Amino acid sequence: MADRVPGFNTLAIHAGAQPDPATGARATPIYQTTSFVFDDVDHAASLFGLQAFGNIYTRIGNPTCAVLEERVAALEGGTAALAVASGHAAEFLTFHALLQPGDEFIASKKLYGGSINQFNHSYKSFGWNVVWADPDDLSSFEKALTPKTKAIFVESIANPGGVIVDIAAISAIAKRANIPLIVDNTMATPYLWRPIEHGADIVIHSATKFLGGHGNSIGGIIVDAGTFNWVGDERYPLLSKPRPEYGGMVLGETFGNFAFAIATRVLGLRDLGPALSPFNAFLILTGIETLPLRMQRVSDSALVVAKHLASHPAVAWVSYPGLEGDRYHSLAKRYCPKGAGAVFTFGLKGGYEAGVKLVSKLQLFSHLANIGDTRSLVIHPASTTHRQLTDEQKVAAGAGPDVVRLSIGLEDPADLIADLDQALAA
Ligand SMILES: *Cc1c(COP(=O)(O)O)cnc(C)c1O
Repeated sequence: MADRVPGFNTLAIHAGAQPDPATGARATPIYQTTSFVFDDVDHAASLFGLQAFGNIYTRIGNPTCAVLEERVAALEGGTAALAVASGHAAEFLTFHALLQPGDEFIASKKLYGGSINQFNHSYKSFGWNVVWADPDDLSSFEKALTPKTKAIFVESIANPGGVIVDIAAISAIAKRANIPLIVDNTMATPYLWRPIEHGADIVIHSATKFLGGHGNSIGGIIVDAGTFNWVGDERYPLLSKPRPEYGGMVLGETFGNFAFAIATRVLGLRDLGPALSPFNAFLILTGIETLPLRMQRVSDSALVVAKHLASHPAVAWVSYPGLEGDRYHSLAKRYCPKGAGAVFTFGLKGGYEAGVKLVSKLQLFSHLANIGDTRSLVIHPASTTHRQLTDEQKVAAGAGPDVVRLSIGLEDPADLIADLDQALAA
């Protein structure tokens, strides 16, 4: 057993966890505490000086959260991870470690609506400037590069569904420019797609969605692939310059291939504060134990429902990369051959009005602003998640007026189809 590399299902249950040394508890204990007693004064000093790893204060780390971090790092094939309070906090701390005021990053236009807002508006007050590119036109990433560009950010399977991004091609562009590629892998999860194997340097998650998987906890994760060399690179001073907070330590030199994860913890999480509660870490860990089963089932059911909708007379189009003939079908077969995920969009012939009406008639589907639950969910993005965007931005983000988004859960697909049929007939 010792030299065997465990498979994905095994890692989903065991990575990062051991029976509790104090009690023998087999499920991961919830260390619901703010702080941890030091062995002695020297121990305290070495923890604060980053000379030893250990627990200080739950805002910058907690043993329950640490199991989650190790587990997701193992599932993604990274070197280390940081668990934080939400997916948005994961994005924020990632950029905080990379960008200085006046810097730029390139982001795919096909993103979660909240990320588009975060990048367009909130980040402006830090002097971080987003430059948008189109994942369907790879040259737009090349054209967006300037000497100020410090990173590229894309989603693998892009929200609100139906877009597969060519991660290997975008990674090649990032490598030529010598900047890290950040992949938001929320919609795919590492069960369907492991972006580090295709050149991602940093992977982030909204654990709120499929990792947790039960619609009960907000959380986020940053995974360090350990692939980017920060040493001596003046463009990334948090990683390459002596840090006054830690007696002149250079994080990139001291921590090598997990320096990025350390920087997001000891500079980002410590100072900016979006800690994950140990209780939420426990719920997300419990969700991850069934991630492989759930992701396979929701992908299989989404394909069944998508096929049904594609032949429905009220439906103008269905965008699901699992469907043969879909424009992203060949990319889906290459990057996520086990399935294309739970989330997809379709268009109603009746446009905006028909979209609003459909969500009000559905009974089994819940009308709400989330994805990745055991329950099937529906939303009309143009009137909800994407309503802050201009009409042009809505269409660019795949959220035009006629678009309805489904997140398929674990119910019987025949019941989901029956619900959609009665709502479309109404
Ligand atoms: C939900 C979501 C986020 C934001 O995550 P929160 O946990 O809600 O902060 C980021 N990216 C994607 C793809 C998402 O679906």
